[in-house]
This record gives sequence, structure tokens and C-alpha cells, in this order.
Amino acid sequence: MWFYTGEERNSMEKKNIDWANLGFGYLQTDYRFVSNYKNGAWDEGTLTTDANIVLNECAGVLQYAQTVFEGLKAYTTKDGKIVTFRPDLNGERLEQSAARLEMPIYPKDKFVEAVKKTVKANEAFVPPYGSGATLYIRPYMFGSNPVIGVKPADEYQFRILTTPVGPYFKGGAKPITIRVSDFDRAAPHGTGHIKAGLNYAMSLHAIVDAHKQGYDENVYLDAATRTRIEETGGANLLFITKDGKVVTPKSDSILPSITRRSLIQVAKEYLGLEAEERPVYLDEIGEFAECGLCGTAAVISPVGKIVDHGREICYGTEMGPITRKLYDTLTGIQMGTIKAPEGWICEID
Ligand SMILES: *Cc1c(COP(=O)(O)O)cnc(C)c1O
Repeated sequence: MWFYTGEERNSMEKKNIDWANLGFGYLQTDYRFVSNYKNGAWDEGTLTTDANIVLNECAGVLQYAQTVFEGLKAYTTKDGKIVTFRPDLNGERLEQSAARLEMPIYPKDKFVEAVKKTVKANEAFVPPYGSGATLYIRPYMFGSNPVIGVKPADEYQFRILTTPVGPYFKGGAKPITIRVSDFDRAAPHGTGHIKAGLNYAMSLHAIVDAHKQGYDENVYLDAATRTRIEETGGANLLFITKDGKVVTPKSDSILPSITRRSLIQVAKEYLGLEAEERPVYLDEIGEFAECGLCGTAAVISPVGKIVDHGREICYGTEMGPITRKLYDTLTGIQMGTIKAPEGWICEID
């Protein structure tokens, strides 16, 4: 194993990668951050070149899925700075996810420091401005010691891996078609509000089935009454009313998307729009003029059609005008062409 010392920094040269044609996949980068939790405390943490993890066969994560994660991006702004977007909120959310699964807290300040360190070490993999590509950052934590009786692990590992990913929309944002799923994603008082692998494991069957039936994604209903819209497997929903108001579903079992929370603030403070978080009923979605999915990956992905067992609700074949404004404003803030609210842009130096 070889540990990063920081000496190579001066000779930073971008990797020879066809940035614009990258997909969303794993491409191994040079460094990752690793910190171990043992005897009730986290160690200092370090960068390593070793991309593999050796675990005991009975590790908590393997037996009982004790793992949580985050997702954010680093990218190059117009003036050539490498930045991340609101990483403190990812750190805060990871704290909440960990607490819900009885895992130790990795403090959010240390989290932000570790993100910066990892991005800095992988600077050569941060795509240039204008390429549309970004460096995807995946912090995660898991129970690492043997656990066979059902209980939380005593030892944990926190890691941050990075991988360059291509532009989300190649050749324009084409609206997607989503279906109302017959499967449920999250129970009331369950784990829908935390970013845990377990929420994704059980969504895999639904997503494979949706793709088989020709849909891009599933939209899940509230499990208790199946009358309210919640979210898709990996993105929150955003609706625009005919009179230009932004509406986003409110529920305790929705993952609190940082993109969605930022867009609501952008709607109010930059665009002068009314924005409301409230329960959204399945039988009212035909009343909306526009719909989009929001999350780190795409910022906003326009929804062209929601199919509810034969009932089709159409929002058009192009990104709607208000969705477009929200998209352009937030991506402008991220890329440094529009002034950001205090604390939103975190520079890697
Ligand atoms: C990560 C995630 C989102 C999007 O959150 P962002 O912070 O905007 O990236 C939405 N829904 C689910 C279920 C998620 O896991």
C-alpha cells in the first residue's frame, strides 16, 4: 500500500480522458480516503492508492447491510476553480443516516475536510469547465467487524471514492417517462429519509421491471395510503402549477434532496416564484403544467409523462419553461456564472 504525501500536487496534469463521452460508471481514480472506527473512536484517516477492501466474511455490512452513503460532485468553474456544492449538507445528512442505523457519527466538519483532500488528490480526474463532465464523489460508511447476532457492528470504515462521470444529458435534456410503481419504497416511520444502501437494494427489482416495461423510472406512492406521490428511487419530484408555482411533495419518508432544497431557495430568491412543500396527491398530478426529477446527478431531469396504470399524464416533449429557468439558474450558480448564496460553493484549494 502506498500513501499519498502531497508532493505530486505541483505536477498536476489532467488525465487523458474523453470527458464528453464518459458515461455514469466507475472509473478507478488514483486516491481514496479511508478512516477506521475502533474502540469508540475514528482514526486520523488517510489517502491510499489501494482500491480494494479486505473484510471478514462475517462483517456487519455483508450480513445485515449496515451501510450508508452520500453523493456529490466536484467540477471546474468558468474561472478555473475546482469546487463542490454544499458539501456541509452532505456531511450533515450522513450524520443523520448513520444515527438511524446505529452507526457512529463521522463529524460533518471532518467530512468536508476529507472530501476536499480526496478531490485535491484526484485533481487530474476533475473534468475541465465546459465538458459537462464532473468528478462524482461517493462517501460511504459500513460496519466492518464480524456480526452474527443481530446488533450494530463495533467497528466501522468511512471511505470516499471518486470517479469521473460524463454529462448527464448528452444531446439535450430529453424528457423521461416514469410509471407509478406497484412496489413501495419506504414505510411510514421507516428508513426512506436516510441515504442507505438498503433503500436501493429493494428498489432494484422495481427498476429492472420498469425498464422491461419500457419506463425510465418508478415513482413511488406513500406506502400507508397509496394516494400521495413520494419520489423516485433516486430523485425527488418537483411540479410546476399552471400559474407558475413550484410544488414539491412533503413526506417524512422522502430523502431530503440537497438539490431540491436548493432549487426551492432559487425559485423564491432568484426567480421570485412561490414555492411550496406539501402533500401531493396522485389524483391531482394532471393539474400540473411541468414536472421534473431533482438530484445531484442531473440537477433536474424533465418528466415528459407519468403513467398510472393506463392513465397517462403528459407534461410535454421538452423541458418546461419554469423547469428550464430553475435548471439554468442553479447550474449557473454551480458553474460560477451566477452569484451563489453565501456558503453554497466550496472551493478546493
Ligand atoms: C440521493 C437521493 C436523492 C437526491 O438527493 P441530492 O442530495 O439532491 O443528490 C433523492 N432521492 C433519493 C432516494 C436519494 O437517494
